[in-house]
Amino acid sequence: MRVFINPGHHPGLDPGAVNRDYGVTEADIVRDVGVLVAEYLTAAGCEVKAVQSNNLCGEDAAYTNVCLTANSWPSDIFVSLHCNAATPAARGTEVLVYSRWTQADTLASCILHQIVDSMGTLSRGVKARPNLVVLNSTHMPAVLVEMGFISNADDCRMLVEQQDELARAIARGITDYIQERGE
Ligand SMILES: [Zn+2]
Repeated sequence: MRVFINPGHHPGLDPGAVNRDYGVTEADIVRDVGVLVAEYLTAAGCEVKAVQSNNLCGEDAAYTNVCLTANSWPSDIFVSLHCNAATPAARGTEVLVYSRWTQADTLASCILHQIVDSMGTLSRGVKARPNLVVLNSTHMPAVLVEMGFISNADDCRMLVEQQDELARAIARGITDYIQERGE
């Protein structure tokens, strides 16, 4: 089973969302969590490729093209990692898919349940977001995990201080899906 991990944004080029109180950026958090997820999946017997790049689908030829790399490998599963941001009160975990009632929807549910159960975050559910390039330009079941809100104090503390538990939960969600499919 090949798993492609795409930590969102690009440290140094695109920080993503920023929490100035804590002095942390989304790009750094998802990079660090992505490294750990890749380690746990490799230990579980998956082939893993991780690419964090300012070039999601051909926008910036100076960097690795994320969707093209996943499609041509080809990967069996695509998982993008992000942190949400909104008002300080907004919190919780949600997982985005191209459309509901698909294999990606099942993968999303597996990851969402593991994060919510393990980290105690609020479940905001699985949502269809067909306009996102990493979801509409990938050829395999693809999900975008909004792990928590960097703009919420409790979620942000989790995102910074509990990265190992968070990564293990994401990896378990992925292996739950693989087992469910019987592969
Ligand atoms: Zn993001």
